[in-house]
Amino acid sequence: MRDSMRNDGGEGDRNCDHNHDYDVIVIGGGPAGATAAAVLATHGRQVVVLERDPFPRYHVGESLLPYCYHTLNRLGMVEKMNASPFVKKHSVQFATMDGRVSQPFYFTDHLDGHPAGQTWQVERRAFDQMMLDGARDAGADVRMGVGAKAFVMEGDRVVGVEVEDADGKRSVLRAPMTIDCSGRDGFAINRMGWRKRDPQLSKISLWTYYRGGKRGMGIDEGATTVAYLPNKGWFWHIPLHDDRISLGIVGERDEIYKDGKDLLAIFDRYIQANLWVADQMQGATQYGQVWVTGDYSYRSEYSAMDGLVLAGDALAFLDPVFSSGVFLALISGEQVGDAVHEALARGDTSAGAFAEYSDNLCNAIEAMRKLVYAFYDEEFSFGKLLKKYPHLRGDLTDCLIGHLSRDFTALFDGIREFADVPESLPHGRPLMATS
Ligand SMILES: Cc1cc2nc3c(=O)[nH]c(=O)nc-3n(C[C@H](O)[C@H](O)[C@H](O)COP(=O)(O)OP(=O)(O)OC[C@H]3O[C@@H](n4cnc5c(N)ncnc54)[C@H](O)[C@@H]3O)c2cc1C
Repeated sequence: MRDSMRNDGGEGDRNCDHNHDYDVIVIGGGPAGATAAAVLATHGRQVVVLERDPFPRYHVGESLLPYCYHTLNRLGMVEKMNASPFVKKHSVQFATMDGRVSQPFYFTDHLDGHPAGQTWQVERRAFDQMMLDGARDAGADVRMGVGAKAFVMEGDRVVGVEVEDADGKRSVLRAPMTIDCSGRDGFAINRMGWRKRDPQLSKISLWTYYRGGKRGMGIDEGATTVAYLPNKGWFWHIPLHDDRISLGIVGERDEIYKDGKDLLAIFDRYIQANLWVADQMQGATQYGQVWVTGDYSYRSEYSAMDGLVLAGDALAFLDPVFSSGVFLALISGEQVGDAVHEALARGDTSAGAFAEYSDNLCNAIEAMRKLVYAFYDEEFSFGKLLKKYPHLRGDLTDCLIGHLSRDFTALFDGIREFADVPESLPHGRPLMATS
């Protein structure tokens, strides 16, 4: 037994009739955990959220996808978002190194005036706080400054979590279901040895913030721009409220560090490498630290075991080029909330109860993953694809906005003529008992 797991002995059973403190323990109060908790509390479940860090806290990942709308609407968040200062995002566009900008993909053109055609560029500190407040308002017991330390096991079943509060005091919480929403910290993935990297997507990212610079006008004010860099590197340029810009570089480690590791010097060099970015950033002033992360793109070998299921980045992380992270966190939080509620109602919280949830989510992740692979392929460009197959614009836009619960065979057959499209990964399904 790993030292991060406590085994209380005894056989786990399928009917979850253990003495317990809650119906569900949620590890992590980010967008996935807050959503799962709000859905479960609304179903009338006793749910506790363990959040290790004091909120509000900094987090990267500001650009939302249009299809976040549906989960936010279910949670009653859309009015709050509209009343917030978050910049409204109507489109995504692509900028070449010589400064040319693509025709923007305006979401509303595709969604025929549906309110999902407008989304937001959020400050995560404020957005995550709003989401967690929403879970608390729905009835979840949110415990701040409380970290999960170990799973409590009975045989091969997770029956609770050992926690530590801000004063270092340890205690045990028991529940028939635990949902791991611990983000890229990967509470379950790391303890179980389940992390499977996506080696072709092993990039690094540097990002920081600026004040000032140029901004689009009107409907273009909140456009996300993906601006190209040498060797399939790219910038994200995300306009935030209060005249701030989130600017990030993604690329190969050796390429980014080839002239040294002075992070601000790297930003200055790259800004000059893309004429559109250089123009936008004229007069902008950098502030705060430069953040760096590697460890890109992974999926958990398993999505669930008896008494445990994973959601959000705790289950899978995909290169952020199409801003899919918060969207996947929201839909997985919503779907896992419903799936756990139904599992509890049936009295079957075994891993197999989460097969449909896992299939749905893995299919959504695969559509995005295939598009990410195409993006990094030297031979591929959206322009080339749409010039040859203009009728695929709708399918492509569906993928880019997060309408992923549909068949993309025609789109990927078209893309395959320009780029290698990877096979779907087998990971991310429940760990079924072998006996
Ligand atoms: C460089 C980069 C750029 C990105 N850009 C975008 C973007 O533009 N748009 C987008 O949609 N996404 C983006 N993402 C992805 C986005 O940040 C994540 O997908 C999203 O935050 C996932 O939400 P989550 O709830 O799963 O995890 P998180 O938001 O990470 O929340 C997890 C929470 O769990 C808590 N926690 C961790 N361990 C424990 C523990 N042991 N006990 C208790 N609590 C714990 C943490 O404190 C945290 O609050 C980006 C990611 C990176 C790395």
